Amino acid sequence: IAATAPTVRNICCIGAGFVGGPTAAVIALHNPHIRVTVVDKDENRIRRWNSKHPPIYEPGLHDILRIVRDGSGPSATNDELTKPGGLDGVFPREAVSSGNYGEGRHARVQTKSDVARQPNLVFTTDLAKCVSEADVILIAVNTPTKTRGNGAGSATDMAAFEAVTALVARHASPGAIIVEKSTVPCRTAQLVQSMLALYRPGVQFQVLSNPEFLAAGTAINDLLHADRILIGSSNTAAGHKAAAALASVYASWIPPARIITTNLFSSELAKLVANSMLAQRISSINSIAAVCDATGADVDEVARAVGADPRIGGKFLKAGIGFGGSCLKKDVLSLVYLAETLVLPEVARYWLAVVEMNEFARSRLVSRVLRCLNNTLAGKKVTVLGFAFKKDTNDTRESPALDIIRALEKEGPDTIAVYDPVCTPTQMAEQIGRFAGSHVLRANGGPVVVHSDVYSACQGSDAVLITTEFDEFKNGPVEADGVAGGLEANPSQISTSDADDHLSSLNPVPPCDEDCPE
Ligand code: NAD
Repeated sequence: IAATAPTVRNICCIGAGFVGGPTAAVIALHNPHIRVTVVDKDENRIRRWNSKHPPIYEPGLHDILRIVRDGSGPSATNDELTKPGGLDGVFPREAVSSGNYGEGRHARVQTKSDVARQPNLVFTTDLAKCVSEADVILIAVNTPTKTRGNGAGSATDMAAFEAVTALVARHASPGAIIVEKSTVPCRTAQLVQSMLALYRPGVQFQVLSNPEFLAAGTAINDLLHADRILIGSSNTAAGHKAAAALASVYASWIPPARIITTNLFSSELAKLVANSMLAQRISSINSIAAVCDATGADVDEVARAVGADPRIGGKFLKAGIGFGGSCLKKDVLSLVYLAETLVLPEVARYWLAVVEMNEFARSRLVSRVLRCLNNTLAGKKVTVLGFAFKKDTNDTRESPALDIIRALEKEGPDTIAVYDPVCTPTQMAEQIGRFAGSHVLRANGGPVVVHSDVYSACQGSDAVLITTEFDEFKNGPVEADGVAGGLEANPSQISTSDADDHLSSLNPVPPCDEDCPE
């Protein structure tokens, strides 16, 4: 990190979503002297960020907001706040992943050396003001997949990103550093630079790529303990200086060796490749799961034996109903699209197979349910436990559960009951209604019923599918006496009828949520 890096005093993050909110909160936490503003056009979202109930659920987020937004909560000493990695003592990894720091055994007693924190994180809708005051502007808006056609790759929908870039170009102060935080197609930086030149001819800005690698459900842990920060810049003195300025923000808590600098396009492409390779691993083991089913081999045993080879490693080798979430599929399809536009059909076909295998993994579960229930769901109740795309998040985008529900609906069951420990019944009903198209959701009946209680969801079911691997489903909810109760402790609550024998073979087909990135 060059000593000449300009001092950053004011950061504006555009997009108060799953990435923008937590990232801005952690940056603010570790940089008490930087004012961080998060801007969104969605007034309701901003209102919720300013309330006690932020729009997203992430373990650990709540306490950080209490410090940086409210100026209260578990405190830290000056030393702890300024030493790289020093906050580990305040927010131990274990505490952050449990979301349980600030209380119980992770409670931290306030000492004389604790500093009173001035709040330095603000959520607002006033984009023009915040952008004009910022010396670093992070663009963290949604970049979803465009509608996919004919099994080919999909371009990224850049509408929100381009709209925000145009606003930034209009309002940013000369010399501002504009950072692509969103996942974008390779060479987007060129587009940003040309938009800046168009709107503000002759004004100097610097464009950086700084893709985010956090995963929903572990966002705070991932941000606090990032294994790498990737910063791409143009290969000029000004570009390097801008990269050094952004690096100095992260260096407040990330060891310098983990800050990787590259050229702009390498950084953009690396994000797509990282997600595509993780997706590929999941599809690889799911393809082997099908072979195991047909041969009598056990995919968990195969994975353990294969993963023991250090060249392969054991992570991301858990077979299940495939990856979900807003990013993995989108990024693989974006890579496929890139290969197609570069006229590399062999490369495109290779990566497209990863998505096709994921769809196959979903359909295998539904086929197994049918096999277990005499090939018909008519007159039967099926329960789907878990609606979020992975545990410890309320993010339901591209959730495997939604695909499973849609596939089950086609089989005409009497009822599909759905329960999730984090998503609210309203959130689930809205999503299922939207995806189910024509049918009407009724509160107490109809083909899909959302429940706020796991036992009522399972009552009288012919099959219970665990589609999100929440601990509650594995261990049972923690009772008042601290003992895990739950499904196994109350087997009479689950009517499994003739599927009973098969459930044990159905249940070990969890979704992949093992540190699933986004
Ligand atoms: P999100 O949909 O949760 O949040 C995006 C926010 O941007 C929304 O609140 C939206 O209202 C806001 N926005 C859109 N247009 C705007 C405008 N013109 N002005 C102001 N605000 C505007 O999306 P996300 O999950 O936070 O993802 C953001 C980016 O980060 C995407 O490119 C995604 O691929 C990438 N990413 C996401 C994750 C993840 O876990 N979700 C992880 C890594 C990277």
